[in-house]
Amino acid sequence: MNWHLDTKCIQEGWKPGNGEPRVLPIYQSTTFKYDSAETLGDLFDLKIGGDFYTRLSNPTTNAVEQKVAALEGGVGALMTSAGQAASMLAVCNIARSGDHIISGVAIYGGTFNLFNKTLRELGIDVTFLQPGASDEEIEAAFRPNTKLVFGETLSNPSLNVLDIEQYARLAHAHGVPLIVDNTFPTPINCRPFEFGADIVVHSTSKYLDGHATALGGMVVDSGKFDWQAHADKFPGLTTPDDSYHGIVYTEQFGSAAYITKCRTHLMRDMGVAPSPQNAFLLSQGIDTLHLRMERHCSNAQKVAEYLSGDDRIAWVNYPGLPGDKNYALAQKYMPHGTCGVISFGIKGGREAACRFMEALKLAAIVIHVADLRTCVLHPASTTHRQLNDQQLAEAGVTPDLIRFSVGIEHPDDILADIRQALDTL
Ligand SMILES: *Cc1c(COP(=O)(O)O)cnc(C)c1O
Repeated sequence: MNWHLDTKCIQEGWKPGNGEPRVLPIYQSTTFKYDSAETLGDLFDLKIGGDFYTRLSNPTTNAVEQKVAALEGGVGALMTSAGQAASMLAVCNIARSGDHIISGVAIYGGTFNLFNKTLRELGIDVTFLQPGASDEEIEAAFRPNTKLVFGETLSNPSLNVLDIEQYARLAHAHGVPLIVDNTFPTPINCRPFEFGADIVVHSTSKYLDGHATALGGMVVDSGKFDWQAHADKFPGLTTPDDSYHGIVYTEQFGSAAYITKCRTHLMRDMGVAPSPQNAFLLSQGIDTLHLRMERHCSNAQKVAEYLSGDDRIAWVNYPGLPGDKNYALAQKYMPHGTCGVISFGIKGGREAACRFMEALKLAAIVIHVADLRTCVLHPASTTHRQLNDQQLAEAGVTPDLIRFSVGIEHPDDILADIRQALDTL
């Protein structure tokens, strides 16, 4: 349907038939009953669609997958147990041992570790690119065995905005897709497919759920990448799959080849499936996503403006501030707002940062980010503590960086909390 995003948040996904529950039910069942073994066999062979085992699909999960696919404008989506699993499946669906990928370095610390350690151990090599890399620098990273380019639309926690069109143009020139992690802006503030990205991944544990109740991830397929045009690069999609009686995904599933393989091959084999309960919680969360994002952004703008006017603050990083180095890119890709997360440094460095955080009363120190309660974190000593100083600098995380995740409480209460904490320094 050609509804506004706000309407899609509420109306997409679960579409009850006559006499069915108005609200998405939780199908808390591992399996589904069929009258004939033949039908079940056809389901197994992907000859017909339908649910048979919750690792592969479940009606509650399907509903929220369709909701996110509608919000991003994709042909299909796959929900995973966590955001990490979404990134892993998105890459492993088209890159295997002996292959190479390119990634922006300003990405979530967990994704950096996944690429830099686990994928390398699995035989997939990675080249990291600095934010703001020139065309020439990006070009230089490509190899004959490069299978994809990855970036974060708005990076956690350094808040760099990816030049999606630049990355998409260069990826496509080399016959590979651009995969982006759109967790921070959410589809409310940025729809990467409109700028040429091919696959979107999410940690739905953040704003999409919004209440910090359920872990989850999502892989969304735009359906636009022409795998067949680069068939030699993507044999997993374009040659027969022996484990499915020789199905060729691009022939059988057309524009949904990638997302179908992600489910029927990788989810089948790796089992990183979400619980129906968590899919339900995610759907409930997305019902109000449009309202929450608006408030997160207006609150964060007020906090960022306040911080940049206080002389106890060393620096403020928020792409919504006109002087910010990412302001122009944010205006282009996220004109209605970025997200509720701000990073800043306090004069006095790491030690002052810790004292400030401990003095906060409303904002809680938690690892989590991007939910409706204001929270705060010191990445250098927590989420990014595995990185050495050079890796920290490359990821845009300085030792004094405070990640402040502005919630949807009344802005004056958030500002008063910050003021009283600064006054204790
Ligand atoms: C949190 C996060 C992830 C990982 O998601 P989990 O749900 O914690 O596994 C990936 N990308 C970004 C941008 C994140 O913020």
